[in-house]
Amino acid sequence: MPIRKLDLDVVQKIAAGEIVERPASAVKELIENSLDAGATQVQIEVRTGGLGLIRIVDDGRGIPASEAELAFAPHATSKLRHVDDLAEIQTLGFRGEALASIAAVSHVVCHTRAEGEEMGVVLTLEEGNVVDRKPWAGPVGTSIVVRNLLFNVPARLKFLRSSASEAGHIGHLVEQFAMGHPEVRFRFVNDSRRVIETPGSGNIRDAVRQVYGPEIADAMVALEDVVDSLQLRVFGLLSPPDQTRATRSGLSFFVNGRRINHLALGYAIEEAYQPALPAGRHPIVVLHLALPPSSVDCNVHPTKVEVRLASERAILGAVHKAVRQALLEVAPLPEVGVSLEPAVWPVPSDWFEAALAPPPPPVAPSVFPSPPTSSASPLATPPRTPDVLSQAPSTVPPREGSAMTSETDPQPAFRSTALRAIGQIQNTYIIAEGPGGVYFVDQHTAHERILYEEIFTRRTSGHFSSQALLTPVVVQLSARQWSVVTEQSDALRGLGFDIEEFGPDSFAVRGVPPTLIKGDIARALRDAADALTGDAETPEGSDRLVATLACHSAVRAGDPLTPEEINRLLVRLETTDVSRYCPHGRPVVIHLSTAQLERDFHRR
Ligand code: ADP
Ligand code: MG
Repeated sequence: MPIRKLDLDVVQKIAAGEIVERPASAVKELIENSLDAGATQVQIEVRTGGLGLIRIVDDGRGIPASEAELAFAPHATSKLRHVDDLAEIQTLGFRGEALASIAAVSHVVCHTRAEGEEMGVVLTLEEGNVVDRKPWAGPVGTSIVVRNLLFNVPARLKFLRSSASEAGHIGHLVEQFAMGHPEVRFRFVNDSRRVIETPGSGNIRDAVRQVYGPEIADAMVALEDVVDSLQLRVFGLLSPPDQTRATRSGLSFFVNGRRINHLALGYAIEEAYQPALPAGRHPIVVLHLALPPSSVDCNVHPTKVEVRLASERAILGAVHKAVRQALLEVAPLPEVGVSLEPAVWPVPSDWFEAALAPPPPPVAPSVFPSPPTSSASPLATPPRTPDVLSQAPSTVPPREGSAMTSETDPQPAFRSTALRAIGQIQNTYIIAEGPGGVYFVDQHTAHERILYEEIFTRRTSGHFSSQALLTPVVVQLSARQWSVVTEQSDALRGLGFDIEEFGPDSFAVRGVPPTLIKGDIARALRDAADALTGDAETPEGSDRLVATLACHSAVRAGDPLTPEEINRLLVRLETTDVSRYCPHGRPVVIHLSTAQLERDFHRR
């Protein structure tokens, strides 16, 4: 083909494809326009995941009738004139591309009346061309209806998920706007169902209540700090360390009201929670940074979800400090490190440090000593207590390829009595004697790991039962969680959740997997929804779901266990094909070898 300049129409559709990646991207642009227009109320309605219809109605300043057509022209904006203005930009939009792009790939009807004008106008557009214009005598503000989004970009349509999933994205987006602009009333209706409605009181907690529910919102810790040297104000809400989620989806950051993604900010905040944050868990945080516009570069990302901050390190440091301070005020965080008294426990060598140090990444699929390869490695230390072994009845056949078989002994190396329980300490750790030394078992992570394997096996073999609850538990969910649960209800039922829609934002749970009967059912369902968010159909999504279920079904740290329960746990641990990590990546067992003990007591 000879080189030719593309038709404007083609250029426009390619550009539109970038901005309108999915229905939620169009909704984002339209809400931003409403906020830029000073709206105090924004209503969002979608049908069939936004592909059928998107309607955004605001009470903002409106578009002057004489400029209505221009608003839909490419690169037309009222927010920017010179390139220098970019440095001081205070609006969410500034590129003048959104309306043009959305209109290019849909059918749009726009009603608008500007402040101070007698009459408004209603414009009808098809694939970006104005096909009708009439005067309109409505209230000041703007209403934009988008139908058949992406109808002329079939390639993109193919990539979209189910309408429940797209609606979930939109719900999540509205939640973020609501927490970013608590002074604005948001109302989101999905397929005639009201999903979220915030009061617009200006109080972040009121908005957060609609997103995460009253229980979490009311437990959250307020944070407010001003750092004059940075002209920074940081404020928001933090979940206490015991209210966490399995993913980072609860981290929401806003810079001057703009929702941003910022990995380093997330790390700085989670670091401030340490050591109270359980491994693999993430807090719920709604954090606002107010900075002079000139300290924020918004023009570094096509959809503006990433920004560059001037003096980023100093800002991260200030946020870290403010978060830590706020958390410390409500509950002192535990001390970091090992708290053994050296005076009582004179330890000249480094044994307990070695024992407490995180073990190397799992190499063998078993928790127990591998075949003797090198006596230098504590886990490879050959058993020095053959009598324990010889007494053991052979109840458990060795697994194929498992380290429970050894080269020298064709029989299973360790059987159900290989570990002899000594007791439980701090209602959290089990101490056991076993081949080659002493084992410290984290009861929660061990149980979790066992259940993880069991659930997985049962799931692949299709055996799943549900235990009915005496009284159903009603679980309130965020808009996003709600649509995930709706969409993935079959996967959840398959695991034993007997659930049913209950009102606009809740599910009633009538039965649960039997292992969960004593667990926190509401939290388990919310975590399950979070685990399935985004990539529910992928193996990782399904792994996360099983991990969530295992975590909520397992005994907790702090639960006292009877000797029988301890023994049962140890037996099951030995018969489980476990790596030394729980599904969240925490070690399950720490081993202190006899050889190490002998060295430390100078017996060798
Ligand atoms: P940008 O927001 O980057 O300026 P858009 O294409 O989103 O570009 O909008 C173009 C212009 O249309 C805006 O600059 C604004 O003047 C006007 N506009 C769009 N939506 C609204 C609205 N809801 N209320 C008032 N004015 C609007
Ligand atoms: Mg805009």
